[in-house]
Amino acid sequence: MDSQEFRAWSRRAADWGADYRDTVRDKPVRPQVAPGSIMKQIAASPPEQAEEMEAIFADFEVKIMPGMTHWQHPRFFAYFPANAARVSVIAEYLVTAVAAQCMLWQTSPAATELETKMIDWLRQALGLPEGFSGVIQDSASSATLAAVLTMRERALDWDGNKKGLPGQRRLRIYCSNQVHTSIDRAIWVAGIGDENLVRIPTIGALRSMDAAALEAAILADKEAGFLPAGIVACVGGTSIGGTDDIAAVAEIARRYDLYLHVDAAWAGAAMICPEFRHFWNGAESADSIVFNPHKWLGASFDCSVQFVRDPESHVRTLAIKPEYLKTHGHDGIINYSEWTVTLGRRFRALKLWFLMRAHGLEGLRTMIRNHVRWSAALAERLSKEPDFELVTAPMLSLFSFRHQAGEGQDADEHNLRLVNAINDDGRIYLTQTRVDDRVAIRFQVGQFDVEQVDVDAAFDVIVEIARGLS
Ligand SMILES: *Cc1c(COP(=O)(O)O)cnc(C)c1O
Repeated sequence: MDSQEFRAWSRRAADWGADYRDTVRDKPVRPQVAPGSIMKQIAASPPEQAEEMEAIFADFEVKIMPGMTHWQHPRFFAYFPANAARVSVIAEYLVTAVAAQCMLWQTSPAATELETKMIDWLRQALGLPEGFSGVIQDSASSATLAAVLTMRERALDWDGNKKGLPGQRRLRIYCSNQVHTSIDRAIWVAGIGDENLVRIPTIGALRSMDAAALEAAILADKEAGFLPAGIVACVGGTSIGGTDDIAAVAEIARRYDLYLHVDAAWAGAAMICPEFRHFWNGAESADSIVFNPHKWLGASFDCSVQFVRDPESHVRTLAIKPEYLKTHGHDGIINYSEWTVTLGRRFRALKLWFLMRAHGLEGLRTMIRNHVRWSAALAERLSKEPDFELVTAPMLSLFSFRHQAGEGQDADEHNLRLVNAINDDGRIYLTQTRVDDRVAIRFQVGQFDVEQVDVDAAFDVIVEIARGLS
């Protein structure tokens, strides 16, 4: 592709993107396609000869787009949002055009220095105290893996990386039964083993780790000769928003010298609003916190921020060249690849800079406050319908509900059928979860362009389809 074509097609792609965002509202949120139907349309082998861009682009529109789920659809109420504010898309385009590998300070000084600044902007935005530094990871899964590896190495006095785990004392890590599966995988990948991830029962409406049970488990493990290494707490769990009492957990972590990682991948964004910060009281004493600007805040995927209180132990775990240890940060040079499992790094800070400047924290706060308000109003409306039941009350903008099955119908099957029918209908998109081993339907308001009318429309769709099934 020569420069002139590059220019023309870039313009076309930009126009296409703007048109897409303008019209996405009119499409079914989830595509109505059968498994394998896209694959069937793709050539079995790569072409030997170059093809025309016109044909490639046409195929993208005709063969690919009908099989896409529209995460930027205002009536996307499933999972958690993966917002890509328009301004973030523009920054992403620039990053892609420049295409730098930002692993060391010298491989792109501006990327490194802007990353340091954006971490600090976000620290201030979230109301975290000075003393936290951090790094932008690709995803929360990677941040949690880095935290778990640091827990492991810290507990083993940095012997695990050197000698491996055989012959070491058995490590133990603690979490509630509400944490994301990325915690399980971090434990497996870190070689700690699923059997050493101790799941503490939860209590209360927010399903918080029972602090007394946590302490008892730590004491029993010490008694049995295990080596407690750390705690993974969560704020805004994926299923129903399960939230630990971080202050209570942090106190126990301090008492037993355990590393504390807080997973606030989704809920962290809401902490730009001071009135929601009570949900993570005590976060300021965590060792590591992860939150995903690529979820609710509007920075396009991927962009996950990990704050760390003691970068020395983090870098000592992950850096390949330990001699950097002596100087990292102090001479003004940070090599962020020493803070992550991957070496190569994209320039992710630019979209945060664009996003925060273009919307202002006040604009982002207004969005999040609206979502929380609309979600609460919808939960309230549904709970007043005689055939609907609220299963879990809103945690920020996430709640779950259930529809009453007809006589002799299985409630779980009925609600699964309802989710499928709603998603096949296409006007809105929802997902289900299990609460106390029963099916519940999740609802979260969080898409960047969602408006009150969309949430109202969701009520109509849910009620209409549910009653049609009964
Ligand atoms: C989404 C989510 C994750 C995983 O995030 P990725 O960035 O996709 O790895 C982890 N924890 C919680 C609570 C989440 O909501």
